[in-house]
Amino acid sequence: MSSTIETDLLVLGGGPGGYTAAFRAADLGMSVVLVDQRATLGGVCLNVGCIPSKALLHAAKGLDDARHLQELGIEFDAPRIRPEKLRAWKDGLVARLCGGLASLARQRKVRMLTGIGKFSGPHALVMNDGQIVVFKQAIIAVGSHPIRLPFLPDHQRILDSTGALALPEIPSRLLVVGGGVIGMELATVYAALGSRVTVVEATDGLLPGCDRDLVKPLQQQVASRYEAILLGTRVVSAKASDQGVRVVFDGPEAPGPQTYDYVLVAVGRRPNGGAIDANLAGVRVDKEGVIPVDRQQRTNVSHIFAIGDVVGEPMLAHKAAYEGKVAAEAAAGGSTLNDAKVIPAVAYTDPEIAWVGLTETAARRDGIAFEKASFPWAASGRALSIGRGDGLTKVLVDPDTQALLGVGMVGPQAGDLIAEATLAIEMGAEPGDIALTIHPHPTLSETLAFAAEAYEGTLTELYLPRKKR
Ligand code: NAD
Repeated sequence: MSSTIETDLLVLGGGPGGYTAAFRAADLGMSVVLVDQRATLGGVCLNVGCIPSKALLHAAKGLDDARHLQELGIEFDAPRIRPEKLRAWKDGLVARLCGGLASLARQRKVRMLTGIGKFSGPHALVMNDGQIVVFKQAIIAVGSHPIRLPFLPDHQRILDSTGALALPEIPSRLLVVGGGVIGMELATVYAALGSRVTVVEATDGLLPGCDRDLVKPLQQQVASRYEAILLGTRVVSAKASDQGVRVVFDGPEAPGPQTYDYVLVAVGRRPNGGAIDANLAGVRVDKEGVIPVDRQQRTNVSHIFAIGDVVGEPMLAHKAAYEGKVAAEAAAGGSTLNDAKVIPAVAYTDPEIAWVGLTETAARRDGIAFEKASFPWAASGRALSIGRGDGLTKVLVDPDTQALLGVGMVGPQAGDLIAEATLAIEMGAEPGDIALTIHPHPTLSETLAFAAEAYEGTLTELYLPRKKR
């Protein structure tokens, strides 16, 4: 017999957006039911995305560091990699974090339901086991799924990011289809583990959309380390067998057919808005599966909110968590608005690439005026001491108001360093504020101050002819 549960707030989806929204709403005194198809919280990010990939990238960094130390006269024997132990360590880390979230949910009395839920009306959700949740308000946080290339067969040797993170084995030859963030991060992992990696990217550069001066050091690193980078090239067909995958390419410089042990497909993600019968609740979903929302994350149905990947790009966990808090506070009667000025983005490649706010690519596309100053890490003692003089930090500034519009960085830890730039933009800082902030020496964080000083004309670490302003 099906049961009915009544609640103030239904949260559909338990990823970083959904669980943050559920916990915040519970803290604000609402009764909350949180539905997810997985038995664990954390969604794609924690279970099969950001966290396991960072765990494997940590292992990759250890291997790369050991290789780098050889140049300094410190030699190790060739590493022996035990994939099952690496897998168990990564899985243990994920399990520990999932356990932590489950206990946070219990402490807050958030009721968790495991299964697939779909709307059956503006105040009702039906679970695949027949249970019905009747809610006063709802937050949709159902995320996104990997895009499939329709001509690729369904086969265990053709992986999406989830399959690749399960680390079935270490392929001797791996093809990564898609030179975006996911493709390049997983290429970093498998190249370090010893796979011969080829990346095939349809556009004429890696990480499309990202400024070329930031991508250049990455492109140089991978050009020497990977078997091939095929730009302006597409996969047009593939035949999979137990022995491998035979792949046919198309493009001006496409090679002939090649055989790989595994093929990883990372050609983008698509929002899951089309899979929840949102129309039965009256919620509008566009043809891409995106649910449009206002600045309080409300859909066209005012008591139903949507957050995270399902409201569209950028599909980032930290954006989802922020939107989750906005929606929960609005649902609890608050006047919170989504007023984030900027959202930082990070590719956890080697080197890392991070940017926030305006990019040169977007400025040129949209005709936005900017001034730019850069600091090459070749002039940073700290960067050189870790063997990474190929990094770069740059600032983009509004020529009229001197406001900091954007920052881009490439180099180790760029993903951590970008947080300072994000705060600076949120606080309305000018380059002069950053330049006059004493940064610890010797650190990579100085590179932001040096780029700001380069803009101000006060940099002494380099000789830059004075610009008149
Ligand atoms: P993406 O859109 O970043 O990159 C996909 C790439 O595949 C593009 O460069 C595209 O040109 C290429 N491509 C498309 N079709 C192709 C084809 N047939 N052959 C060859 N290349 C092809 O998508 P993604 O890397 O799959 O990531 C998906 C989403 O997840 C993104 O929104 C991303 O921001 C997010 N994500 C972010 C992070 C992070 O911030 N570190 C990590 C993982 C995922």
